[in-house]
Amino acid sequence: MKIRTLIKYDMIKITFPDGSVREYEAGVTGYQIAESISPRLAQDVLACGVNGETVELNRPICGDSSIVLYKWDDKEGKHAFWHTSAHLMAEALQELYPGIQFGIGPAIENGFYYDVMPPEGVVIREGDFVTIEKKMAELIQKKEELVRRDISKADALKFFGDHGQTYKNELINDLEDGHITTYTQGAFTDLCRGPHLLSTAPIKACKVLAVSSAYWRGDEKRPMMTRLYGITFPKKKLLDEYLVLLEEAKKRDHRKIGKEMELFMFSDMVGKGLPIWLPKGTALRLRLEDFLKKIQKRYGYQQVITPHIGSKALYVTSGHWDHYGKDSFQPIHTPEEGEEYLLKPMNCPHHCQIYASKPHSYKELPFRCAEFGTVYRYEQSGELHGLTRVRSFTQDDAHIFCRPDQVKDEFIRVMEIIQIIFGALDFNNFEAQISLRDPNDKEKYIGSDEVWEAAEKAIIEACAEKGMNTTTELGEAAFYGPKLDFMVKDALGRRWQLGTIQVDYNLPERFNLEYVGEDNQKHRPVMIHRAPFGSMERFTAVLIEHTAGHFPLWLSPDQVAILPVSEKYNDYARKLQEYYDSVEVRAYVDDRNEKIGRKIRDNEMKRVPYMLIVGQNEESEGTVSFRQQGGGEQGSMKYEDFGKKILDEVRKMTEKY
Ligand SMILES: [Zn+2]
Ligand SMILES: [Zn+2]
Repeated sequence: MKIRTLIKYDMIKITFPDGSVREYEAGVTGYQIAESISPRLAQDVLACGVNGETVELNRPICGDSSIVLYKWDDKEGKHAFWHTSAHLMAEALQELYPGIQFGIGPAIENGFYYDVMPPEGVVIREGDFVTIEKKMAELIQKKEELVRRDISKADALKFFGDHGQTYKNELINDLEDGHITTYTQGAFTDLCRGPHLLSTAPIKACKVLAVSSAYWRGDEKRPMMTRLYGITFPKKKLLDEYLVLLEEAKKRDHRKIGKEMELFMFSDMVGKGLPIWLPKGTALRLRLEDFLKKIQKRYGYQQVITPHIGSKALYVTSGHWDHYGKDSFQPIHTPEEGEEYLLKPMNCPHHCQIYASKPHSYKELPFRCAEFGTVYRYEQSGELHGLTRVRSFTQDDAHIFCRPDQVKDEFIRVMEIIQIIFGALDFNNFEAQISLRDPNDKEKYIGSDEVWEAAEKAIIEACAEKGMNTTTELGEAAFYGPKLDFMVKDALGRRWQLGTIQVDYNLPERFNLEYVGEDNQKHRPVMIHRAPFGSMERFTAVLIEHTAGHFPLWLSPDQVAILPVSEKYNDYARKLQEYYDSVEVRAYVDDRNEKIGRKIRDNEMKRVPYMLIVGQNEESEGTVSFRQQGGGEQGSMKYEDFGKKILDEVRKMTEKY
């Protein structure tokens, strides 16, 4: 023990993600650790995770720790990069528009934004983006360091007050003294917690992407700020690739394609954020629903239907009133004094009532009830976006009530359903995020330790058994149970969160749900919420963007467009349509008085998989000339044979399911 005092510095143990351990002097930084491994790593590393917290690379590490070094490919690395870039953009704005006030400037999934209040009389428009980008590029040349300072609340209020930053001062007022930090690079100082890059030097390419408006703190009664979106990269080439991707994403925007294909619409008369499914969109949705219903039937689900409203008392009992009440649609009153109903924000309470409607024995569990249940949640109008953020949406919902020992099996079964769906719709690239308890803060979760441990273990094992790609997030579980979320990568490599499986110990408790066990005693069932699509609206939006509207033949609202070359052949075209109707091939006739070239272009826009061109030859021979979407002319055949060909293709696609 004596000898320890002779060593100048204490040594600490640093554990790496692969489990290896190295010793360093206490006070070592993430950057020094990276340097000790390789100069290349030191060049690429952007931030580091110390015992689960992301920090800057110059933060001294004083005790034994587990660390992760984050690079560009890690989301934490990108986050630090883009967060720093938000400061850089703010610095540029401060130089260009003296007197500008700053709100908040977070990193987001792709880039960052900053909410600002330009000085009186100044409007920042798209035409100004180039100037802002140039200024950012100029500032990058200075390779400014970001300097962190702890500051007292009083000093912070004075500093930002002196600089006319009233929004920052409002934020500071909400902070606790002793926990306030600022970061300064060059002449710009921001109120921030970090983490950032050590300097702006790694930023090599900047782009201001968009400008919009946003209420200060999302409150419609507060001032309207200007929101500037930007993105930056460590290499110019990455920016170029991103801009190509963005262009492609614009072409695939589901709002644009939805209009072109006449799938859905919104009407301000009906109300913001309330999607209306047009006939073709409805055909698509019903087909998706039928597809899922068929699989669910095989997996032992029973279909149910419940009302769109429920008494307020139901949601007070379920706890949803506390969660959604104040900020969502307000109760509906009836002529009966004191009677109140809510548009349902969730289907679960209704399903709990179905379960509770009769006694259950351990032998007959699991009980699985499924519903395409429409729910209503009041999203801020600024948050609404096509079909992905709406105020009414239909979940492909189901609730499984089971014994604790059945959780793993049920997860496996739901995962199988999800694998079938994603496979059928060509989402071949997906992974699951397992959300577990925060092991250091077990008090905030309801349910006993053993029950949680068993459920978490069941989920992890189920994922392993199904060979699922997973990531695990500690502390991301809901207070009422662990969950599994499915993320798909679309054709452009964008990640979307779709389905969820969620364990719930809370609702069975609140609704006093029971089953009689083998021991003849009453027990609580475990409830599992699950929705493989998530919602029909969101899933359809993702499917449109993934396929660019080119749905697989079995799902496509129309399979065949029949295009007579002139009016003379309209009768023949109609005869074909009648025939296809009778054999259940979905066809329509484009009998508009237009040139055939125009008809082909228009129907290509509608993304109909096949077009049949019919004229004199076809009529006299009883044939059709057919074109495949995007594939030009393919040949001709007897019209009955063409019908068989379509049915054959569909059968091949669907026989697996
Ligand atoms: Zn920051
Ligand atoms: Zn539910």
